[in-house]
Amino acid sequence: MSEEVEVILELIEEVLGEPKKVYDSKLQYGYNCIECDEGRKKGNLEVNLEKHVWHCWSCGISGPLGKLFDEYGNKKLKKTYLLIRPDEFKVEEKKKNRLKLPSGFVKVLEATPVYPPHKEAYNYLKSRGITDEICEKYDIGLTTTGDYQGRIIIPSYNKDGELNYFIARSWNPRAKMKYKNPPCEKDQIIFNENRIDWEQDIFLCEGAFDSIFLPNSIPMLGKFMSDLLFSTIYEKAKGNITICLDGDAYKDALKVYHILNGGVLYNRIKLIKLPGDSDIADLRGEIKDEYYYEIK
Ligand SMILES: [Zn+2]
Repeated sequence: MSEEVEVILELIEEVLGEPKKVYDSKLQYGYNCIECDEGRKKGNLEVNLEKHVWHCWSCGISGPLGKLFDEYGNKKLKKTYLLIRPDEFKVEEKKKNRLKLPSGFVKVLEATPVYPPHKEAYNYLKSRGITDEICEKYDIGLTTTGDYQGRIIIPSYNKDGELNYFIARSWNPRAKMKYKNPPCEKDQIIFNENRIDWEQDIFLCEGAFDSIFLPNSIPMLGKFMSDLLFSTIYEKAKGNITICLDGDAYKDALKVYHILNGGVLYNRIKLIKLPGDSDIADLRGEIKDEYYYEIK
């Protein structure tokens, strides 16, 4: 075994613990998966040091080795790894980050209404007030196969029109996991940035399903604003910004208000307090004057 491999194995061990399966001849090593093993010691997460990639056969997390240190290790481990990593693996990191729509993705308007799962999905959308026009405008789709089966998909595109994220929401009300996230960081993207007109007033909301009911809106994909979203708004937004989180997230909305309301954005931030625990998707995007909240 080369010295380089030995050092890399030590770095990996600091993140994943000792390997459970060792195939030195193939430079392949199996570890307990950091996401899904939960003490069962299955060794399903395989690292291949010929290709500098890793993959869990059980839950599907995967990537170039550098990403393992980014996501589960620390800066020091990553730095040491980058010093020893052979140059040939540098490109891989960029290439693989290309996100794809889930397998089996069909646009809702191209689905087959006589096929029961498609009908179920369609009825779910109708029940939430999501019309054919909205489906068309936002490229909303669904899939009945693969990792994201049984989910409505709302794709997100960056300012160059490349897919950078998608929302996958189950249409089955009894599903254990309502949402399943794609393999990328939501903090590193701005959802449907290609649709934002930075010259006009902007709404900030929580989820993608809220955003489709609000004109020129950005879903934060949660109740907190990422650094990227803050700096992009600060730099690009020319109009007012209205914060419209769920009714029960008023304290979080207030935090977002105070983060935004300074510098060039001072006095351009408005706050909406929705009644009860409703969200703007429940209200089908209807905002009454009385929802605007004055901050003193
Ligand atoms: Zn796993």
